Amino acid sequence: MQRLILIAVVVILTSLSGFYLSENKTTSKQPSNIILISIDTLSGMHLNKNGYHRSTTPNLDQFISESIMFNKAFSTSSYTFPGHMAMFTGQSIAMNNMVAFKLEDRAVILPKKIKTITEYLKKQDFKTAWFAPTQDYQLDLTRGFERSFDILETTAKEDGFLNKSRKEWIEKNKDSKKFMFLHSYLVHDPYIPPKPYYKKYDPDYKGRIIGEMSEFEELYNKHNKTNSWNGKLRKKLYFERVDINDSRDLIHMTALYDEEIEFQDYLLGQFFAYLRRESLYDNSVIIVTSDHGEAFGQHNELRHNTLHNEVIQVPLIIKIPGIKPKAIQSHVQLIDLAPTILDLLSLKPRHEFEGKSMMPLIDGSVEKLRDHTITIIDPSDMKAIHTTDYKYILHTSGKRELYNLKEDWKEKNNIIKDNEDIAQDLHTVLFNYITKVKK
Ligand SMILES: [Zn+2]
Repeated sequence: MQRLILIAVVVILTSLSGFYLSENKTTSKQPSNIILISIDTLSGMHLNKNGYHRSTTPNLDQFISESIMFNKAFSTSSYTFPGHMAMFTGQSIAMNNMVAFKLEDRAVILPKKIKTITEYLKKQDFKTAWFAPTQDYQLDLTRGFERSFDILETTAKEDGFLNKSRKEWIEKNKDSKKFMFLHSYLVHDPYIPPKPYYKKYDPDYKGRIIGEMSEFEELYNKHNKTNSWNGKLRKKLYFERVDINDSRDLIHMTALYDEEIEFQDYLLGQFFAYLRRESLYDNSVIIVTSDHGEAFGQHNELRHNTLHNEVIQVPLIIKIPGIKPKAIQSHVQLIDLAPTILDLLSLKPRHEFEGKSMMPLIDGSVEKLRDHTITIIDPSDMKAIHTTDYKYILHTSGKRELYNLKEDWKEKNNIIKDNEDIAQDLHTVLFNYITKVKK
């Protein structure tokens, strides 16, 4: 009898503890599907839910209201290749050496001993799909991303997350567990939003920046003599018409970016509606994030070549079936994503993670995962370290910056001159970290 009561108590406690907390999670409580959506170049600072003045993401906001939102999530780099490698491996550049600047070198391939999240999921009988464009060498499918994917679908244009063959794959695997990685370059430069979004936020601009696709294609075709894709030329032609010292240009470019975000949000809403129709929304873990953000002259920089918050703060929103929505202010990083997915599946890592599972933050058993987060472009290049209170940036040139994050999230006031002791402490922690992970 006592044994029966004990079993009953255990059963009740286990069911009360919900999806994640059940200690010996049964297969039925584990997610049927994991959908990882990366909206390349979407700055966390452009989300209304993070305090941005424009409200461009109604569909994402609805999703956030059903999810765990990490308000202070950071990339581990400012570039596409290392940012995505961090998501897939739970390791940053300092550990896996997947540096964007080394991509000219064909030998830069993820070592076999470092497993991707797809490899873990494949072993658990997940059907796996990579739905992303690959014309960009930063998402090269010979560097390790491709491992353990059943399908590498790269034919969709930048007009949404789905196309006929993707829908067919989802339909074919209706009754299987699925891992889908979806990627979009829509909000990446050049910032050319379609109608009716174009000119929504800055209709009166009269400068030289091109915002319409037909105009930009005409310019590009005039200069592109080879008939093949030339991303560098595309970038050059767009940005040579931008005057970084002209605030009017910066305002307009920001408006174009926000219009692109609004269009992307519309497509995201379409995708979520599709998932609902197919009964895939409620029972899936859905993650929306980005590899890095974007600068519009805030620190005299454009695009994503620095480590200020506009560039490295990213959205990180996770909807987990059975877990109540929540906003979390503790700092987390993209390297925490893979350990979290493994934790959800009660899996043990087979390689060393640098990141940590965010589940203890989600269930409230810890207040923070670590004392500091570190973001680096390259161990020999620009580096930054955040604590809850301060941010220290060390440039390749030796220039240093220190900001009080509690008062100055936008990093407008460099306080290093009056706070040399704080800067020195953070500098030491930064270099101790790099020495340690390099071993
Ligand atoms: Zn990117």
